[in-house]
Amino acid sequence: MFKQKKRLILFVTILLITGFLITSICSYIISLSSLRHQVTHAELPLTSDTIYSEIQRDLLRPIFISSLMASDTFLRDWVLQGENEKDKIVRYLSEIQKTYHAFTTFFVSEKTRNYYHPDGILKQVHPEDPEDSWYFRVSDLQENYEINIDSDMANEGTLTVFINYRVYDYANNFIGVTGIGLPVTAVQQIINQYQQTYNRDILFLDREGQIRLSNNSSDQTAQHTKELQKLTQDGDFIKKVTTTAPTAFQYEIDGHPVSLNSRFIKEFGWYLVVIQYELKGKTKLVRTLLFNLLFCAIITVVILLITNHTITTYQREIEIMATTDKLTGLYNRQALDMLFKQLLIDQNRNPDDLSLLLLDIDHFKRVNDDYGHLAGDAVLEHLATLLTSRLREADIICRWGGEEFIILLKGCDLETTYNMAEELRLGIMNHPLRFDGISIAITISIGIAKHQPHDTRESLIGRADKAMYKAKANGRNQVVSA
Ligand code: GH3
Ligand code: MG
Ligand code: MG
Repeated sequence: MFKQKKRLILFVTILLITGFLITSICSYIISLSSLRHQVTHAELPLTSDTIYSEIQRDLLRPIFISSLMASDTFLRDWVLQGENEKDKIVRYLSEIQKTYHAFTTFFVSEKTRNYYHPDGILKQVHPEDPEDSWYFRVSDLQENYEINIDSDMANEGTLTVFINYRVYDYANNFIGVTGIGLPVTAVQQIINQYQQTYNRDILFLDREGQIRLSNNSSDQTAQHTKELQKLTQDGDFIKKVTTTAPTAFQYEIDGHPVSLNSRFIKEFGWYLVVIQYELKGKTKLVRTLLFNLLFCAIITVVILLITNHTITTYQREIEIMATTDKLTGLYNRQALDMLFKQLLIDQNRNPDDLSLLLLDIDHFKRVNDDYGHLAGDAVLEHLATLLTSRLREADIICRWGGEEFIILLKGCDLETTYNMAEELRLGIMNHPLRFDGISIAITISIGIAKHQPHDTRESLIGRADKAMYKAKANGRNQVVSA
């Protein structure tokens, strides 16, 4: 019984824990994956769109101004007339700079290779000088202009968007490059802000997969930049990022999943890549999971306590039902068998006086016949109460059969037992039951046997039974010792 209970509790525990774990973890995984999906396919593209429109806002104006400069007849005439009176071009560049609040303005002549600037001639460009490579790239350009983000030499190396516009004479011959430069403040600010607010890295990769521009706001960014530089050496990654169509996917950096969105920005010829490192809502999900698990653990404990309590209560009730006589509340025959077994074991180990009384109601059949079975039942209950009230706590009393009772007296020699039996007999004889206004008096016959060494249950009861029959034969209502 105990084993079965343990097995049931174990089974319920396993069932509850597995059930709760599976549902909690499944719902966590599903929520996490939908969060990742939401970030990769909705939030990151939105970030990308916002940054792209910022870039366009930053760039449209300078492109327009540069195109005006490139088609300006003054500039073209001045070049065609031999680049005399340098102060004229300097004033021109300086006025454009002032009017449009440009960071810098410039014109590089194809003929003289002079780099004109609002402050004068800055330098001459040379094909060998890597700093001037941009000019020779633009001079070979198919398109009318290019956008180049570079450090501005004339302005303490500030990161600047240069619009390099090709200038033609009236016969469509290439005569130089002009344009303006603006700091990339807006783009830089917004990508830094995204880094701080959403823990999102934003970077621009060129066609070769080199990082050209990235957020630069914190130490964490520096750490990320290192990781990102490692990434750009991964051919597979570059292949995925540099597909022309906007692309969203998940990737692993140092074993951590990251969500990624990439789009090509044709104005730069660069790829804008937005990377989400740690999901913002993930902590919330983990907290929910832990709360769920805690809640499940509490429910499991409560269910187990209730189950254990219910089983224990029923077990006790069943045990009581199995060992108690329903009518009198005394031990039944089955309980006596168990108690007897233990008593005899104790007796063998540690012999002591032990006597057995076998008690039978005289002419009980007549009670039933004269007053009815209910009266008979009441007599049995009355007798049980009388007997119990006259016995010690250590004595064992049991309803042996219909109207037969067995009493076991520990530590009583034959004489004490006899006296005790007499007392019981007299007590019962003198206390008739009042039932339905009628007085029903009964008498009992008692057979006594004292436990002898090597006595079994049968032999001891057998002797008491014989003594009881002797009492019956001798006229009933008396005690006889075996
Ligand atoms: P004796 O003096 O020889 O023992 O006569 P007796 O009538 O007591 O003996 P007998 O064995 O003939 O009858 C016992 C009666 O006890 C028969 C049976 O109907 C009745 N009896 C047994 N159990 C119950 C019970 O639970 N309730 C009631 N009302 N009667 C019972
Ligand atoms: Mg009988
Ligand atoms: Mg009888």
